[in-house]
Amino acid sequence: MKFKKLFVQILLLICSLFLLTSCVQLVPPVNNGGNTNDNEKQYPYELSLDICSYDFYQLSDELFEMPISSYDITIDNPMIASVSNSGYITTYMEGNANIYFDNKINDDYNTIIKLNTSKGIKVDYIDVGQGDAILVSLPNDEVMMIDAGAGLYYDETIAWQNIKNTLNKRGISTIDHLVITHNHGDHYGLVPNVVRNYRVLNCYDSGSIRTNWQYVNVMDSIANAGIKKQVVKVGDIIVEEGKLLVQVVGVQQSNNEDDNVNYQSIMIRIVYEDVAYMFTGDAGYREGDCENIALNSGLELKSNVLKVGHHGSMYSSGNQFLNAVKPDIAIITTSKDTETGHPHAQALNRLNKVNAEIYQSAVHGTITVSSNGEIIYIVTEKN
Ligand SMILES: [Zn+2]
Repeated sequence: MKFKKLFVQILLLICSLFLLTSCVQLVPPVNNGGNTNDNEKQYPYELSLDICSYDFYQLSDELFEMPISSYDITIDNPMIASVSNSGYITTYMEGNANIYFDNKINDDYNTIIKLNTSKGIKVDYIDVGQGDAILVSLPNDEVMMIDAGAGLYYDETIAWQNIKNTLNKRGISTIDHLVITHNHGDHYGLVPNVVRNYRVLNCYDSGSIRTNWQYVNVMDSIANAGIKKQVVKVGDIIVEEGKLLVQVVGVQQSNNEDDNVNYQSIMIRIVYEDVAYMFTGDAGYREGDCENIALNSGLELKSNVLKVGHHGSMYSSGNQFLNAVKPDIAIITTSKDTETGHPHAQALNRLNKVNAEIYQSAVHGTITVSSNGEIIYIVTEKN
């Protein structure tokens, strides 16, 4: 199926209470083997958007094949939304509304935008510097947190504030699934804060041996909070409900502390309807590293949104892995002025080669990638 007709370019200006400037872009999902065909497009043509309240969207003329201003626009629930002639959608509160775009020239053509401000999947790649803290609000109302790191080259207090603000903004008090991808502080340093301040039900790790004080401290905090800890292996399914699947596609257990900890990264793929997200921890492509475990698993890896492995390290995002994932969007979690030089040019070049659109926490702050299972949209905190 091709989503050319669905291709939407939307710019967003967020007027948040914090007066942050943001941008949003809609991209079509990759071909996942569905049966939609451009030639079979039915009218009225229906589009579904899942957007946040208080956001402002501009619809592109491309979507409508004619300038927005040439349509008669009616909204069946004006309390929820309005659309300006220049194509800006404004939502005022959570709820549903249908927006009808009638073509005056051809009465057969009618596009409906179905606004739903609460349903779908929402992934916040929280800015914690060069480290990972990813909040996934799943469409079945469960919450998954993949890492809660105290990132490098960043103020830990600000990192924690950013995690807290994001959880509070989403109205989350319970985290159903907490994944610690691997045993490094930039991925688990703020786990003790999370388990002290929020109810966490399940925790997942690779089961690898580690005895350093920071790791012991994190494990103690999990045990003290009475959280169920589970060791995962490749193929394990964490959530499966309707068209939602959360599956482990890569991980390695090690009993040798001298082994490279990054090679133990839990890799997770989340699929919701036509859209897929890949999370990689600090996995890389060298011999024995986790990208190869995922490639050899036989599991589907194709994903629209890729959390780039190891903060854009030159040893991550190998060609073979990128060709299997085919990402439309690549998220790199790093900070400004890193001594390690992440992201490395080699990784960026490989991502550019597969035409991934790159977003970086160092540039964009916290990055939110949401989807209704059909269309993806991105909201960034900065730039
Ligand atoms: Zn890391």
